[in-house]
Amino acid sequence: MEDCIFCKILKGEIPCDKVYEDDRVLSFKDINPEAPVHVLIIPKKHISSINELKEDDEKLIGYIYTVAGKIAKQLGISEKGYRIVSNCGEDGGQTVGHIHFHFLAGRKLNWPPG
Ligand code: AMP
Ligand code: ZN
Repeated sequence: MEDCIFCKILKGEIPCDKVYEDDRVLSFKDINPEAPVHVLIIPKKHISSINELKEDDEKLIGYIYTVAGKIAKQLGISEKGYRIVSNCGEDGGQTVGHIHFHFLAGRKLNWPPG
């Protein structure tokens, strides 16, 4: 956890371009955007990946989708559409070991993802 880059962002040790914050969740712009809108939504609780989720976390993870809807509204893209993605493990393309949800929008996104 001490080496977790997203925990460092949560503690203010690394800066971020904040999009949304409340008591449970932080959202900030991805440093390496893959779309015109690319923000990350993370729980404030350190959970390393989907593999580590416990039943107690179900509300929190569901809540992240509610926050995604709020962010879409805030950014004015609810109608245009967007994609929420969470990568898990090496094959899934996860590079940061703190569960997070990519919010991608602002262009027609390819399907299936590569
Ligand atoms: P993933 O590869 O699915 O684990 O996603 C991790 C994401 O975190 C990547 O899209 C990175 O560009 C992004 N990222 C890494 N470090 C930072 C940072 N300091 N601020 C914002 N985004 C970051
Ligand atoms: Zn963390």
